Amino acid sequence: QPVAVVCVGMAGSGKTTFMQRINSYLHTQRTPPYVINLDPAVRNVPFDSNIDIRDSVNYKEVMKSYNLGPNGGILTSLNLFATKIDQILNLLEKRTMPDPAKPEAKPIQNILVDTPGQIEVFVWSASGAILLDSLASTFPTVIAYIIDTPRTTSTSTFMSNMLYACSILYKTKLPMILVFNKTDVQDAEFAKEWMTDFQAFQAALEKEQEAGSFGGMEGSAGGMEEFYSHLSVVGVSSMTGAGIKEFFEAVGEKAEEFNKEYKPELDRKR
Ligand code: GDP
Ligand code: MG
Repeated sequence: QPVAVVCVGMAGSGKTTFMQRINSYLHTQRTPPYVINLDPAVRNVPFDSNIDIRDSVNYKEVMKSYNLGPNGGILTSLNLFATKIDQILNLLEKRTMPDPAKPEAKPIQNILVDTPGQIEVFVWSASGAILLDSLASTFPTVIAYIIDTPRTTSTSTFMSNMLYACSILYKTKLPMILVFNKTDVQDAEFAKEWMTDFQAFQAALEKEQEAGSFGGMEGSAGGMEEFYSHLSVVGVSSMTGAGIKEFFEAVGEKAEEFNKEYKPELDRKR
């Protein structure tokens, strides 16, 4: 059964570069994925996509004709695209089933989805929810939350990133992998430690306060354990390819969790 991996994250966290990396990894494994670009505003997509939102909506034209700013343009483009979701699911279902006419062609095992840089436009919009729900009603669907590790080394940026991830987990009700990206620049061990050892996070907090930082995060780490326990965490470099194998191991685990825990819940709500 194919798995859909949806990449979300703050602008600049490296979603597109990560997509490029996991796409090329799957090609070298001889299991080419089905690739969907949902970012209408991206100029260059550095990977071959099977479905590209830019083929069906022109973001610049949408902005002009509806008199919108960048976020409104992205939102309206997503809305227009979401009206075609049935066609897209049809395509996906065809491509992920064995083709009796071509028994030698392996059916697709992974569907990779890139999303707009403006994370809130995708995660908190009705069309974003429609696109995610439609995918999840057909395939095990996993959220890859991409984090810019070098920009997350202070306790405050770390915690605000975790709280954002937390809100996405509860909004989408889909299994999530935290992908600490750019480990070629900054190792992710500190983050893994903060997520497993409350004392270590507390100590980092105190150290920053001694150094004169504003703080404001006191007590915020308590109560995160429940949230952390639902997540898989991997450190990767989309630049060098480090950690990508571990990422796909996590995808396998989360897909299983999807079928066992998340899917029954989604079906009940439907
Ligand atoms: P997006 O907005 O989330 O799609 O981010 P992009 O994929 O466009 O990447 C933003 C910037 O981060 C680009 O300059 C990338 O070259 C850089 N970048 C992405 N992944 C990595 C990485 O693993 N290591 C390093 N050093 N830079 C990265
Ligand atoms: Mg991008």
